[in-house]
Amino acid sequence: MPSIASNLARIEQGLRKETRLVAVTKTKPASLLMEAYEAGARLFGENKVQEMVGKYEELPKDIQWHMIGHLQTNKVKYMAPFVSLVHSVDSFRLLKEIDKEAKKNSRIIDCLLQIHIAREETKFGLSEEEALAIITSPELAALTNVRIVGLMGMASNTDDPEVVRAEFRGLKNTFESFKSYESQQVMMRELSMGMSGDYLIAQEEGSTLVRVGSAIFGSR
Ligand SMILES: *Cc1c(COP(=O)(O)O)cnc(C)c1O
Repeated sequence: MPSIASNLARIEQGLRKETRLVAVTKTKPASLLMEAYEAGARLFGENKVQEMVGKYEELPKDIQWHMIGHLQTNKVKYMAPFVSLVHSVDSFRLLKEIDKEAKKNSRIIDCLLQIHIAREETKFGLSEEEALAIITSPELAALTNVRIVGLMGMASNTDDPEVVRAEFRGLKNTFESFKSYESQQVMMRELSMGMSGDYLIAQEEGSTLVRVGSAIFGSR
């Protein structure tokens, strides 16, 4: 089996400099994260708060921790001291909670709005209209400790690359159209789309952050 270092090198080689790699480390032991770290990885993505906190405490402090999973408001406080980017904001209520906990830590926490682009009903996320309602809400100005810096989406779980491409293209169009609502707190800089099976398509469609797990660490 190829090593973590060789997987990372191969993936990085296929990425343009505008597209950064988030190594998705969920369920992996700290020893494997260290292997990735030693090979140069610094952006790590986790989907459970407790697991991310444990690894944050154990691992080098120059790692940037990205929360990519569905979040419960009561867990936000545990990651607020250190989280670097929250990819998975799917309600105004959650954004308010992140703002509150960011304030307590004297931080500004960068967030992405997660947009539902897949065919499956099960995946979390906002509709384009709901996301627009958040970025244009007069209430947003009061949330001075969060910034919305872009969008995230997950494509359908399908073998048809053209379906996936169309979904990514749709999200990129939303991202571009939201640029007309930019403000102090809203800036369309980061577009998080693409996983192990579809990150090259995502890159072609304009992704700036790809979230790759199994292609680095294997699927077991
Ligand atoms: C697990 C996960 C990934 C990575 O998936 P792989 O197919 O292992 O690359 C990306 N994004 C999210 C939100 C995930 O939960």
